[in-house]
Amino acid sequence: MQRLYFDHNATSPLRPEARAELERWLDAGLGNPSSVHGSGRRARSVIDEARERVAAALGVREGEVVFTSGGTEAIGLALRGAAAKLAPGTALATTTIEHAAVLEHLRALRDGGHPLLELDVDGEGRLDVERAARACAELGAGLLSVGVANNEIGVVQDLAGLRAALERAGVRPVVHTDAVQALGRLPIDLEQWGAQLATFSAHKVGGPVGVGVLVARGGAALEPVAVGGGQEMGFRAGTESAAAIAAAGVAIELAVAERAAYAERVEGLARRLWAGLEAGLVGARLLGPAFEAPDARPARLPNTVNVLTDQGGDLLLARLDLEGVEASAGSACASGSIEPSHVLLALGLDESGARRGLRLSLGPDTTAHDVEQLVDIVCRTCASLVEKQGTTGGAVGGP
Ligand code: PLP
Repeated sequence: MQRLYFDHNATSPLRPEARAELERWLDAGLGNPSSVHGSGRRARSVIDEARERVAAALGVREGEVVFTSGGTEAIGLALRGAAAKLAPGTALATTTIEHAAVLEHLRALRDGGHPLLELDVDGEGRLDVERAARACAELGAGLLSVGVANNEIGVVQDLAGLRAALERAGVRPVVHTDAVQALGRLPIDLEQWGAQLATFSAHKVGGPVGVGVLVARGGAALEPVAVGGGQEMGFRAGTESAAAIAAAGVAIELAVAERAAYAERVEGLARRLWAGLEAGLVGARLLGPAFEAPDARPARLPNTVNVLTDQGGDLLLARLDLEGVEASAGSACASGSIEPSHVLLALGLDESGARRGLRLSLGPDTTAHDVEQLVDIVCRTCASLVEKQGTTGGAVGGP
């Protein structure tokens, strides 16, 4: 059976150029990058070259790029590392819809004595930046973490607006942004976003699993989390995976170079997908902002369609899997559990609604034919569940 892969926000397949780079260096007998002999020096130069590529792609300096084992570790280093430099008891702030990697690191810091403010979002997932800045000023927040784009519903936050609002409110927290889902899909502009710290993950853009990037701009004050051999400018100890880092460098460089054309194409497909589902599923609702943005700023990720239906949830996902469709109910870490999505709860859905989102995330290999087939299969599968459950498929709950 042909598989229809619609889970690129969870992970996107290794792209051929990254695979070629990985194989090239796996077979090259690289040594430990910290060794002074020839094989070690070769490994070091492979990492240096990858750092150059990533820095150029992200518009930062090479010395600002720290490689980690993935997005989660990069986020942990950013948040724990920055918090360790704050005075004890300094407040931290974030939003209620961040990825678990952000929320759980911050909640651990809260348990360690830093008050934590989790800012609400509106029914489409948007943060009110003026309110956020005022709250940060009142609290004297020392660290603020707001993701560029949400992995479940694709909402894009107004980080440039947040930066301006923070300035107006006269507060200067260290700003971290989880840019894992933005990479290769939105323009990356850390300066405009006012972010000193930003985190990325290679496997979301066709790089290998197991390579993350922390950008720490302008000598952002950070305490290392993993200590030992002093690798990665002392920020992240542990022998680097040179071949995987090289492949990640290639994937990130290409994702950024191809972004504009890719985003335009994939957004066209995502719009067709939503139009097909809206026409074929009674009462279906698009979660997150509409495709038609009110201003020039992108309101949503171009590749993400999360649909609320009466039939959504684990049973629908399992049925779709049997039909060859691979999708998700939320973040990959949470799918497989029956927990309601914290993101959908934050939009104001009740517990039942927060279990019924169907996240369909498109990628570079998605075709118009795939989208047509997907629409057909989702509509048929939902209809058969309606028959089985004897439900009417009426309008769904929540705001
Ligand atoms: N942040 C966001 C928004 C994500 O979507 C993910 C992956 O699901 C992560 C962080 C974690 O990245 P990684 O899987 O590389 O640890």
